[in-house]
Amino acid sequence: MGSGACFCLDCQASNGGAPAYAAVHQKSDFLLEKGEPKVYWSQSETGNRIGRAFCADCGASIYGINESRPDYLPITASALDDNSDFKVMALSWVSTAKPWHTLDSNIPAFEKNIPSE
Ligand SMILES: [Zn+2]
Repeated sequence: MGSGACFCLDCQASNGGAPAYAAVHQKSDFLLEKGEPKVYWSQSETGNRIGRAFCADCGASIYGINESRPDYLPITASALDDNSDFKVMALSWVSTAKPWHTLDSNIPAFEKNIPSE
């Protein structure tokens, strides 16, 4: 599935100003081995409820939840067991990227969300 970097203001806020790096996986392929993440909920520009699941103990970001696409989970690169082959295939929300963010002009970039097929 796809992977990329999101520069929306919510991602920046939860990542110390950096974009969120995530790879979208089928929810059925994801196994959380222990614990129960805490979820911060907000509303997207289009009105969907968006959740950000994070570790309640250390605060590490784990995955996102988009209620309009319940079968898919964008899993943050830092939550993957091995992210050494993580590849940024697209950039989203570059309209809110800051002048000091580095945008690779070789990677497809979208003003807002990456259009779903
Ligand atoms: Zn975002």
